[in-house]
Amino acid sequence: MAVIAQKKKKAKRASVYANVTAQFNKAADIMELDADIRRILSKPNNEIIVNFPVKMDDGRIEMFSGYRVQHNNALGPYKGGLRFHPAVDIDEVRALATWMTWKSAIAYIPYGGAKGGIQMEPSKYSSEELEKITRRFTFALGNNIGPEYDIPAPDVNTNSQIMAWILDTFLSTMPPHERQRCIHVVTGKPIESGGSLGRDKATGQGVVFTIEEWTKDNNFGLKGATYIVQGFGNVGSWAARLLKPHGSILTAAEDITGAILNSKGIDPEKLTEHVWESGGVANYPDAEPICHETFMRTKADIFIPAALENQITKETAPFLDVRLVAEGANGPTDPNGDSILQSMGIDVIPDILCNAGGVIVSYFEWLQNKRSEFWELEEVDNKMYKKIVTAYKRVRDTAKKYNTDWRTAAYIAALSHLETVYKERGIFP
Ligand code: NAD
Repeated sequence: MAVIAQKKKKAKRASVYANVTAQFNKAADIMELDADIRRILSKPNNEIIVNFPVKMDDGRIEMFSGYRVQHNNALGPYKGGLRFHPAVDIDEVRALATWMTWKSAIAYIPYGGAKGGIQMEPSKYSSEELEKITRRFTFALGNNIGPEYDIPAPDVNTNSQIMAWILDTFLSTMPPHERQRCIHVVTGKPIESGGSLGRDKATGQGVVFTIEEWTKDNNFGLKGATYIVQGFGNVGSWAARLLKPHGSILTAAEDITGAILNSKGIDPEKLTEHVWESGGVANYPDAEPICHETFMRTKADIFIPAALENQITKETAPFLDVRLVAEGANGPTDPNGDSILQSMGIDVIPDILCNAGGVIVSYFEWLQNKRSEFWELEEVDNKMYKKIVTAYKRVRDTAKKYNTDWRTAAYIAALSHLETVYKERGIFP
């Protein structure tokens, strides 16, 4: 029995929330965050778990567990994506919700932080079943979400179609006279259903805007620069495609189906089409298959992790042979991985800054819905550019001021904003 228990313990996934806590404590110590505010921010406000039944295509009933963690709403309504993935659990959602609070705070957008999801493997279900699961989850969450209270968006394995089903379910369960006021209950909707131009590419676009700023600071040219991308879904494929016009060269990509390499260059547009048709990067005809370790060891100028958490760790960080890690994913680097990257002199644009373009354009979508407006793509892109570059400079200046790494600086910038707000308002009663 003891041996089995030990093996089970070893197999347990590293706690993502422990990473957030370590990052938070490091920043709070350096900036000497007010002890009371530190206590407030070190716990999420609300944690909602719903277990709900769904009738499958064959008539069977299956039970699902759904999560929504609302970390903090000092700056505005809770905001954050929904993820459908087998690894979704309370620890992961708690961590992702906390990162959302910091992200909104750095970008100076009037949102708090939340995240949610369903523990499931979506590829196992038909489209009809996915719709029913989504609708039943929305129903189970009830008034725990709302257009002025908590606003979901897409994340891993969710997209604009899922957002449309959530919107329709939420509106259908509202009193008729309130329905027209609630279209901003989700962002990342299809354009026809109230979405914003530019939201689909927003996170990848933000990643590229922050990389551009880094190149200016480092006198580095993107023309001819090589990059590798882990995760070729929404964030990874958009970042890859948007770097192409700069003359940069994608040499390797990895997703759940495998990893591929072509040192002469992989066309991100063609690879995206291949992923849409076949479901992943594997078997892309114009590249050779490689293993995970070879992918991580591929020499390049820029690595864009855009998949899941804990990819750059004490085991894998020493493999990297890059100048910059631009974190499209949330939490791709754990604290051990971070220390190794620092000792290797690899720069990091941290997740809560690098991938903030998504939540910034979600905010624009929300504003357009509230004002019954529809902005041109150029307007969305320009406004996002200004916000994310301002956030980038805020983090860069904070890193200089505190002589610290960029992740810690990003935390300090976010926590300073929240600290000011708490001090101004005080604590009720
Ligand atoms: P997605 O579902 O569109 O794509 C996820 C990608 O990761 C897929 O290509 C998948 O195959 C790959 N992947 C999954 N497991 C993997 C593994 N073990 N190894 C390698 N690749 C793996 O999701 P997305 O929306 O692109 O999100 C990716 C990351 O970006 C997540 O960390 C998410 O939280 C973060 N993020 C997304 C947004 C957004 O607007 N969608 C915003 C901010 C941050």
